[in-house]
Amino acid sequence: MTRQRNPLAFIDAELADLKSKHLYRPLRVMSAAQGPVTVVDGHEVISLSSNDYLGLTHHPRLRDAALAAVAEFGVGSGAVRTIAGTMAEHELLEAELAVFKSAEAVLTFQSGFTANTGVIPTITGEADLIVSDALNHASIIDGMRLSKAPRKVFPHKDVVALREILREAAEQGRPDGSGPYRLILVVTDGVFSMDGDIAPLPGIVEAAEEVGAAVYVDDAHASGVLGRNGRGSVDHFGLHGRVDVQVGTMSKAMGVLGGYVAGSQALRDILVQRARPFLFSTSHPPADAAACREAIRVMEDEPSRIERLWASTKRFKAELTRLGFDTGRSETPITPIIVGDSEAAIRFSGRLFEEGVFATSVVFPTVALDQARLRTIVTAALTDEHLDRALDAFARVGNELGIIAA
Ligand code: PMP
Repeated sequence: MTRQRNPLAFIDAELADLKSKHLYRPLRVMSAAQGPVTVVDGHEVISLSSNDYLGLTHHPRLRDAALAAVAEFGVGSGAVRTIAGTMAEHELLEAELAVFKSAEAVLTFQSGFTANTGVIPTITGEADLIVSDALNHASIIDGMRLSKAPRKVFPHKDVVALREILREAAEQGRPDGSGPYRLILVVTDGVFSMDGDIAPLPGIVEAAEEVGAAVYVDDAHASGVLGRNGRGSVDHFGLHGRVDVQVGTMSKAMGVLGGYVAGSQALRDILVQRARPFLFSTSHPPADAAACREAIRVMEDEPSRIERLWASTKRFKAELTRLGFDTGRSETPITPIIVGDSEAAIRFSGRLFEEGVFATSVVFPTVALDQARLRTIVTAALTDEHLDRALDAFARVGNELGIIAA
């Protein structure tokens, strides 16, 4: 029997709407390894689009560690951690991460995304309040949505407004009059992923301490970038012992895949019992865990990578500003080039691609409608020559499209 109507036909209309508003983004396909130069849709390009900050995705030591683990342990873990999927590699990785982060304990998740969506609803409930920066990452927002806790949002990085919200919450307690909140949890990105600015962590920690609130930092873009050998924003600001929950990712600067939570042993223990992605989704293949362990060692052994990352970042930003581009409020290797209109951003990215530079456009809903941009990330693997070639292309195409004055 043929179907009378397609019940999913509305999707076609949604897609047409996205395309007409220049908000539809086709996937670009890479047919070579991630790196400073790669092949995208069949074209060799200089890549300014990956999160491979330290160039570890193709580091020989990580590759060898992964291959040795495949030879010894196979390709998959075969179960969730709580059933038959906890391998020695997972536990060793967690112990080594805990030392690296100066934390009592670490628990790994399949991704940074699942770390946030697993941890936030596990440690918060109806009796609690979550206070979140307005520009926190989507995975934090989803984690909050999965929690029964009410939430308040403070304007981006506004410690004065945060302090006000915290004082009021501490004084007034729960809105139904049933007493004080069990937990007030302040949540912030360490480095904001679209603008590359750094959270005012010392001010946030002080404001939280005034009312006995806990602090939760998502260091996805600070891992491997800020702090000694890339230990993250807590280390960068010297706040060890004053931040209760640190989430990190192993998918960006560490070059592999996965998320982790660093904190107390009790935090780890309750997450093992309750965090849903941990309980209901299969653990990392042992080779990923082995490569992550090697990534920590490389970060300790090769500090020149992070030095190079920051030197290139400074030069690249200074040159872009000199050329007349608006790089927003970035303070880290994430360097947005704000164009405003989504159609212009997509055209800019497309023309750069033709010129051999891969710099992806980011449009609504990832950023506000009038804040469309190219989002570039400098990596330690890019040479001065790559950066000069990229900057030449930016200047040429920026002039041609009227994004900067000639
Ligand atoms: N948090 C932030 C702030 C991020 O930018 C990202 C990645 N875009 C994540 C979490 C998710 O990390 P992962 O890619 O490891 O899932």
